[in-house]
Amino acid sequence: MTRSVPTADVAVVGGGIIGLATAERLSARGLAVAVIDSAGIAGGATGASGGLVRAFDLSASRRRSAAAGLDVYLRQGHRGTWPAISRQGSLSLVARGDLPQAAAAVADLGTAGHEAEILTARDLATRFPALDVPDDLVAVHEPNAGWLPVGPLAHAMARDAGPRLRLIPARATHLLTSGSRVTGVHTTAGPVHARGVLLAAGAASTSLAASVGIHLPLRTRAVGYCLFRVDEPAGLTTLPTLVDTTTGAWLRPWGSDSLVLAGVFSQETDVPETVRPGVSVQEEERVRAVIRHRYPHLATAPVTGGVTAYDALASTGNGEVTMWPELGGLVTATGWNGGGFKLAPAIGELAAARLEEVAAR
Ligand SMILES: Cc1cc2nc3c(=O)[nH]c(=O)nc-3n(C[C@H](O)[C@H](O)[C@H](O)COP(=O)(O)OP(=O)(O)OC[C@H]3O[C@@H](n4cnc5c(N)ncnc54)[C@H](O)[C@@H]3O)c2cc1C
Repeated sequence: MTRSVPTADVAVVGGGIIGLATAERLSARGLAVAVIDSAGIAGGATGASGGLVRAFDLSASRRRSAAAGLDVYLRQGHRGTWPAISRQGSLSLVARGDLPQAAAAVADLGTAGHEAEILTARDLATRFPALDVPDDLVAVHEPNAGWLPVGPLAHAMARDAGPRLRLIPARATHLLTSGSRVTGVHTTAGPVHARGVLLAAGAASTSLAASVGIHLPLRTRAVGYCLFRVDEPAGLTTLPTLVDTTTGAWLRPWGSDSLVLAGVFSQETDVPETVRPGVSVQEEERVRAVIRHRYPHLATAPVTGGVTAYDALASTGNGEVTMWPELGGLVTATGWNGGGFKLAPAIGELAAARLEEVAAR
């Protein structure tokens, strides 16, 4: 037997960082929001995230969202209640051939009030002697960027939304429609009626969109990391977060227990939508073979754990917030491809504005 749950202004499918950032912004606009997720808050890709945040990106549109996201994270949210960023700094490595674009991006960030500088391999050898960066790469250094604890951050976002947010611990099965409008979401706990619906359920959004005839092709892509125990814990207090765009390697200090979290971009797609503790021996070898060239301590450091997870990958490779003119009331925010955490505050702001618009029509 199913029971009916109260009507909301907006139903958000997915209690990950994108759904929560949107719900918080909707509640700030005075709207009542039902967040539907059978895994609870941050039970999907968000809970596995490395939480690295920075403003720099070679793509101007992603840089705008990342910079706006970083601004909100640095202010600890719109009410100053979110966990603070561990400001250990961020290094983004790019090929020397991309130096003109990187320099333009740094100038662009400077205009927007974000501190960023270009460092050569020689500068890096002096400033960050534990790292090994060849001469054919340069780094964008952002001293105010770093990483965030993802679980506490997601819960803080939900708390900020206050009583206007209702969490419905259920699985969405299909969307409800009347004529050419979405009117809510059917869930395993009953129907949720709403004037606007956001799909922010990662790759599972594809089948929910298909329930109303909308083609939203998403796949899963493997994303995970290994936890390495290093023998020089003192060095970790000054180790910045690192993203090497030329190899797909990334790392950050774990924050305690002499651990470094490190991963390498994977091409493996269509993996299960599950988050599992631990990594396979093959994954450990794959990550170590790449990361050791940037942080040589990890050549021999033992792996003490990690995470095997996934993110949603859009066919264009970029996440998008989309309104669907053929079906009033629907907005989708999906396809973040391993990088959605840093963008979330900006994506939430945009999605909330779109939802307010479609709900009012
Ligand atoms: C290991 C790892 C490290 C990462 N590191 C970083 C990083 O350092 N920086 C960065 O910016 N990004 C990082 N990312 C990417 C970032 O975490 C994701 O892009 C982001 O969390 C995606 O958020 P989301 O809300 O779209 O999806 P999710 O967090 O996956 O949320 C979707 C939610 O929808 C729910 N759901 C699915 N189907 C249904 C249904 N039918 N009914 C109800 N609910 C449903 C799921 O339970 C899930 O909670 C990382 C990702 C991983 C996996």
